[in-house]
Amino acid sequence: MSIDFRRSWSDDDLELYRDNVVRFIETEVLPHDEEARRRGHVGHEVWRKAGALGLLCTDIPEAYGGAGGDFRHEAVFYEEMARRALSGMANSVHTIVAHYFLNHGTEAQKQRYLPRMARGELVGAIAMTEPGAGSDLQAVRTRAERQGDGSYRIHGSKTFITNGFLAGVVLVVAKTDTSQGAKGISIFIVETENCAGYRVGRVLDKIGMKAQDTSELFFDDVHVSEDALLGGSEGQGFFQLMGDLPYERLIIGVSALATMEGAYQATLDYVRDRRAFGKPVAEFQNTKFKLAEIATQIKVGRAFIDRCVEDLVAGKLDTATASMAKLWGSETQGRVVDECLQLFGGYGFMSEYMVARMYADGRVQRIFGGTNEIMKEVISRAL
Ligand SMILES: Cc1cc2nc3c(=O)[nH]c(=O)nc-3n(C[C@H](O)[C@H](O)[C@H](O)COP(=O)(O)OP(=O)(O)OC[C@H]3O[C@@H](n4cnc5c(N)ncnc54)[C@H](O)[C@@H]3O)c2cc1C
Repeated sequence: MSIDFRRSWSDDDLELYRDNVVRFIETEVLPHDEEARRRGHVGHEVWRKAGALGLLCTDIPEAYGGAGGDFRHEAVFYEEMARRALSGMANSVHTIVAHYFLNHGTEAQKQRYLPRMARGELVGAIAMTEPGAGSDLQAVRTRAERQGDGSYRIHGSKTFITNGFLAGVVLVVAKTDTSQGAKGISIFIVETENCAGYRVGRVLDKIGMKAQDTSELFFDDVHVSEDALLGGSEGQGFFQLMGDLPYERLIIGVSALATMEGAYQATLDYVRDRRAFGKPVAEFQNTKFKLAEIATQIKVGRAFIDRCVEDLVAGKLDTATASMAKLWGSETQGRVVDECLQLFGGYGFMSEYMVARMYADGRVQRIFGGTNEIMKEVISRAL
């Protein structure tokens, strides 16, 4: 008998789809991961291949080039990447950007960007964070000044931007009215190719997620047309950002749980094979108890995360619950992966071992997508 970790939201079609995703990952992503980690990004080709196979923008309607599925299709992709500690292709951010277009863009903006994003021709990034403004988004200093002809000039700098190096389209959070707080914020669409005044700074050197590009971006008098204002009216940026938070936070919860599953399975295999004092490490009571505790946490977590997935698909996931998924998922992931690593002994500290990379990669889950302290703020407002 083995423990049943099946998802309540999956079905035969989704499991067939999962097989396709796994095949893509094992042939196109996994073999190149070490090289991508050395280089600091995955390159463009893998995005185009994923696009050609219909694995990008899976929950975007077919009318805009997407696959017409729902969040469960996205979740399958995040899970299979996370359980193999493959963080290079930040498809989550790409999809989040696609959702900004879908939920807030004008019809022309949807038509212009979504099909190319679904084909993997344009990689998406969202640039909110600045050297002086992270959690406190209202403090952003990047400005977009409206010109007489309705166009805008953007000045400012951003940091920690996922997909920043590879991005073909960046959503830039900027102030259109510095006298206002939230109501003074707007989002601009910047196409990066041949864009005068746009510069990608360093691909930042991180302690984990080495294959994922995280960059500084500079906007030095970047000139964009009136059509580059997401949704077409100023002052909507903050509300646009808030509206999509449950979706973004659940992605972190889903990938956290899949990472735990991947770490658990790898540890189980390892301790059954590794011997000490004349017997497999798996036979020590401490090992069995640790793995029993971990399996329990995964099973309990599965019930909660699955419920969140179902609620999101039904359009009922609220911000506080999504914040709990992010908070609980990332905190539990940290503890579980740490305990798995311990069971690998010294090998667990070696980067060539997946559990070591999971340990380093997982730390940021408590920081990005809104820090866990901010999650507690959000949850406490709903008490
Ligand atoms: C690998 C990586 C990828 C990222 N990708 C992106 C991206 O694609 N786009 C993007 O825009 N940003 C991105 N970020 C930025 C990320 O979202 C921010 O780092 C995060 O929101 C925290 O902001 P900060 O780093 O400025 O920390 P700060 O806001 O300066 O926070 C410092 C500490 O203070 C705490 N704190 C702040 N406010 C409060 C409060 N009200 N109550 C209690 N504690 C508080 C925080 O929780 C934290 O512990 C990324 C970051 C990393 C590391």
